[in-house]
Amino acid sequence: MKNIQNEVMSWVQRGTDQHLCLAVTGLSRSGKTAFITSLVNQLLSVNHGARLPLFTPVREGRVLGVKRILQRDLATPSFTYDRGIAQLYGDPANWPTPTQGVSKIELVIRYRTQHSLLRYIKQTSSLHIEIIDYPGEWLLDLPMLAQDYVEWSEQMRGLLVGRRAEWAASWQSACADLDPNGTANELLLTELAQRWTDFLHRCKAEGYHFIQPGRFVLPGEMAGAPALQFFPWPFEEIPAQQDQRLEKTSTYSVLKQRYDFYCQHIIKKFYKDYFVKFDRQIVLVDCLQPLNSGPDAFNDMRLALTQLMQSFHYGQRSLLRRLFSPVIDKLLFAATKADHVTSDQHTNMVALLRQITQAAWQHAAFEGVNIECLALSAIQATRPGKIEHHQQITPALQGRRLPDYQPVLLYPGEVPAQLPTASFWQQQGFQFENFTPLAMEADKPLPHLRMDNALEFLLGDKLT
Ligand code: GDP
Repeated sequence: MKNIQNEVMSWVQRGTDQHLCLAVTGLSRSGKTAFITSLVNQLLSVNHGARLPLFTPVREGRVLGVKRILQRDLATPSFTYDRGIAQLYGDPANWPTPTQGVSKIELVIRYRTQHSLLRYIKQTSSLHIEIIDYPGEWLLDLPMLAQDYVEWSEQMRGLLVGRRAEWAASWQSACADLDPNGTANELLLTELAQRWTDFLHRCKAEGYHFIQPGRFVLPGEMAGAPALQFFPWPFEEIPAQQDQRLEKTSTYSVLKQRYDFYCQHIIKKFYKDYFVKFDRQIVLVDCLQPLNSGPDAFNDMRLALTQLMQSFHYGQRSLLRRLFSPVIDKLLFAATKADHVTSDQHTNMVALLRQITQAAWQHAAFEGVNIECLALSAIQATRPGKIEHHQQITPALQGRRLPDYQPVLLYPGEVPAQLPTASFWQQQGFQFENFTPLAMEADKPLPHLRMDNALEFLLGDKLT
């Protein structure tokens, strides 16, 4: 009798235990590493002091335990959670070293089910979560699948205006003598591709995010491969159809072949191996840094996000749907580092993010994807304070400034609730500092703002 009971229990267990693949992305420095470190830390601490009042299953006391499990996918690098925790809880506390490329961490949540039928047959269920971290830059490449080498080159050349033109000058002048019909010189192509990569790195360093090809700045295990050694054709004039014999080995043809290889084997591979398996997606956006840097950087971030959001257009006729069959049913856009501004500005942060991601909202409504925006701080590095000025008290932030660890008390300014206008940039009073993480107490979870809202949206309905 006991055996039958055990069999039934194990059958029910298998039938109701669930699996969820949660993908985390965002452009470099948007806060992905900090977010995943905090998410795992909050979940592992649900019964040890985590402050998650808005995460319903925790508030209702139904989460019985969370543990990390050995990664079953042996081919994907592991997310370096322990290293990040050691850095955050060290003295002095440091930010976790950012991850590069794709990485993964797996958890199991054991919870008491609320489901009326299941309650009678079994007490507990498990949710197996795979958290996957990958660079948002990789999503910037999707539109390349719809362009050939000529169209892509034309788009890239069109972007070389203003400061981008200055930064690309070294690549452009080195290309001056490039002969499309001459036999490809491997060394020269490597050198020119390196200059294009240096240009992309310069764009990133200056806070510009729209860069292509995305793998050039975050190559992962592809570093040095010929597939990453091409660049846009630098001249308006496109070589005429070539002699068949020359076609395979000429400079122009080799660049074109490498571009095609990159699209077919690198961009598509990521979508096929990873993207199509994602159930839920969070996209992290740092709106504050571009507000600090000025209108060009801000518009560039919008352009990058517009490209990135094409990966979440699932309409029947979308490029993505035609090539792959994604299944994401929930999409969360989160404005990160909300602790960089006073709490009265958080509503504006959400309103601004909502405007920036407008296109995704329109598509999601049609395509049945549940979408949400919120402002959060994965690891809160400031405390609220007050400044008295001319007998008026205004809200402020206290923290320790990077890189000199000096304590500061400041009011960083107002976040615009709308896309910033010319007058915002003229009288921009917005300025924030980078802060060190707060000193952590060894047995306390990481301090945060609204990680519980994020958990509720991403996991809440799976834990009922
Ligand atoms: P990634 O490149 O997307 O993985 O970004 P990281 O997670 O490495 O974050 C980049 C930097 O942003 C960190 O080194 C911190 O300086 C800052 N940062 C990230 N999250 C937070 C946060 O919640 N609060 C504050 N104040 N800073 C953050």
